[in-house]
Amino acid sequence: MTMTEEKLLTWRIAQVVDESPTVRSLYLRPQGARPSFVAGQYLTVQIRGLDPVEGKSYSVASAPHEELVRISVKAIGSFSHALRSMHVGDELITTPPYGFFHPEPDDEGALVCIAGGIGITPIHSIVADLAERKDVRPLRVCYSVQTEQELVFFDKLLESVARHPDAHLKTFITRQDTVAAPHAQGRMRADDVLGFVPEVATAQFFVCGSSQFTRDLWQTLRTAGLRPEQIYTEGFF
Ligand SMILES: Cc1cc2nc3c(=O)[nH]c(=O)nc-3n(C[C@H](O)[C@H](O)[C@H](O)COP(=O)(O)OP(=O)(O)OC[C@H]3O[C@@H](n4cnc5c(N)ncnc54)[C@H](O)[C@@H]3O)c2cc1C
Repeated sequence: MTMTEEKLLTWRIAQVVDESPTVRSLYLRPQGARPSFVAGQYLTVQIRGLDPVEGKSYSVASAPHEELVRISVKAIGSFSHALRSMHVGDELITTPPYGFFHPEPDDEGALVCIAGGIGITPIHSIVADLAERKDVRPLRVCYSVQTEQELVFFDKLLESVARHPDAHLKTFITRQDTVAAPHAQGRMRADDVLGFVPEVATAQFFVCGSSQFTRDLWQTLRTAGLRPEQIYTEGFF
C-alpha cells in the first residue's frame, strides 16, 4: 500500500514493552498535534528506509484518553519484524487513524467483542474506552488464543471489565493440554458467546482476528441466527 505524503503523521517511539514472547507494544508520541481517533481504528505504518516502501496496518491498542498511542505488533513476517526491531527515539510515519470498526455511542443494545489472537488490539482499545466513558450498555468480551502465553492484555481487560457496571470476559485457550480457570479449554462455540449475551436480537457483535478467524466467526454467528447488520468484522491480513 502506498501512502499519500501530505497526510502522513510523524511519531517518535517513547517506550517499547514486550507483552509476550511474540507480541511487542510500541508507545508512540506524536511529533506535533496529537491526532484524535475513535477506539477501534487503525494506523497504516511506514518504515523509512525499508525496501520496498510499503505500509501495513496496525490497530491502535490504547484508548483515546491515554497520552501515548500504542500499537502492539505480533512477529509474523518481514514488516512486523522490522517494526519490532525499532527502538525508543526512532521515528515512525503513519497515516491518520481511520476505520469503521467501532461501536457508535448512541446505539442501543449489548456490545459483544470477540477477539482471536492479536485481534485483541482494537477490542482492548474499545473496552478501555467504554469503561473510561462510563458507557452502561451491557458488554461481553470473548477472547481466544492458542496458548496461555499468547493471552496479552488479560489483566488490563479484567481491570476495564471491573470498572464497567455490566461487563463479562470469557477466555478460550485452543491448543494447550491443560488449562487453568478462569480460562476455558477449546474453541469458542456459538453457545459460549450467545449464552452470556442479554437480548441477542438487539446486540451488536465486533469480531477481530485473522481473516480465517473473522470468516469462521461470522459464519458461526450467522448460522446461529444473527442478522448481517449485527456483525462488524476486522480481518487482519
Ligand atoms: C486493519 C488491520 C489492522 C491490523 N492490526 C494489527 C495489529 O494490531 N497487530 C498486528 O500484529 N497486526 C495487525 N495487522 C496485520 C498487519 O498489518 C500485518 O499484516 C502483519 O504484521 C504481518 O505483516 P508481515 O509483513 O510481518 O508478514 P507477512 O509477510 O505479510 O505475512 C506472512 C504470512 O502470515 C500471514 N499472516 C498475517 N497476519 C497474520 C496473523 N495475525 N496471524 C496469522 N497469520 C498471519 C499472512 O497472510 C502471510 O501469509 C492488521 C491488519 C489490518 C488489515
